[in-house]
Amino acid sequence: MAKRDYYEILGVSKGASAAEIKKAYRKKAIEFHPDKNPDNKEAEAKFKEAAEAYEVLSDADKKARYDQFGHQAFEGGFGGGGGGMNMDDIFSQFGDIFGGGGFGGFSGFGGGGGQRRVKGSNLRIRVKLTLEEIANGIEKKIKVKRKIQAPGVSYKTCSTCNGTGQVTRIANTILGRMQTASPCNVCGGSGQTIDKKPADADAQGLKVSEETVSIKIPAGVVDGMQLKVAGKGNEAPGNGISGDLIVVIEEEAHDKLQREGDNLHYDLYISFPEAVLGTSKEINTVTGKVRIPIDAGVQSGKILRLRGKGIPSINGYGSGDLLVHVNVWTPKTLNKKQKEFFEGMLADEHFEPKPESSDKSFFEKVKDMFS
Ligand SMILES: [Zn+2]
Repeated sequence: MAKRDYYEILGVSKGASAAEIKKAYRKKAIEFHPDKNPDNKEAEAKFKEAAEAYEVLSDADKKARYDQFGHQAFEGGFGGGGGGMNMDDIFSQFGDIFGGGGFGGFSGFGGGGGQRRVKGSNLRIRVKLTLEEIANGIEKKIKVKRKIQAPGVSYKTCSTCNGTGQVTRIANTILGRMQTASPCNVCGGSGQTIDKKPADADAQGLKVSEETVSIKIPAGVVDGMQLKVAGKGNEAPGNGISGDLIVVIEEEAHDKLQREGDNLHYDLYISFPEAVLGTSKEINTVTGKVRIPIDAGVQSGKILRLRGKGIPSINGYGSGDLLVHVNVWTPKTLNKKQKEFFEGMLADEHFEPKPESSDKSFFEKVKDMFS
């Protein structure tokens, strides 16, 4: 028998939303439910057919595969010959469909049980870094208070759900008998409860412990960025898995350098005579000292670009630049001799501003800076 189109089975269009698909399936499941159609082989086949269609169309991945390849997408997998779902699978889906208690994680196919591994909660810490640490990357050892399973604690299989993490119950509804599965509220779905615990442990058998965690921070991180150290959050009880440690990066302000993305800005002040005569200046960059030459006749406001002397890109593609802004410092007071000298220069045409095309305007310089 040729397999029918899944959309056709549920009576929805290809563009149907997840909610529409769910609603359509619910209608079919009710219509062909075995309890309502005892000993009706045709209804049972349709019931299974609808469940299979829903299993695929309710899963974004499977739906995409089906949309592209049709039934071939699942050959060799389930349902290659039709009717791949057994009744248990179908009923276990109903926890979802009929709102059987927010469990949400049924595996449906593959017959996996409802047991879920409980995950410990995440911890967040803030780490302050200097610009130098950010530029070079650093390994930080941080003290963290995290919950761990207390020494001496032991866990046993939950007797209420026998370790499956879920309880199934039969409910009589207007639709007939329904089997639904919901998480075990004794063990919270983990399938385990406390056997023995020391006095200083909490209700889950956990206690707080201070540990030193080593965190490798790559070069180029940005203020506010979050790094995840897997498994270094709070531990979970029983065979659960540990939460994560979330490291929030905080960048300390630098007294000389201003960060702008991967570029750095530095304000360099030179004296009037240095501007006239030319000089060289030593600058503390994030990777060490650099001496830069300043040409005689430099204009105030000139920007010198030191390529690659900024912050490395977090993605590993090169580094930003260090932009050195030249400021010529003008003294506010002069002694008599100095005053006479400059007064003498007032009449000298040589000191008249004569901007050349190479002395770019402020706006041109800003444009350059971002190019
Ligand atoms: Zn239980």
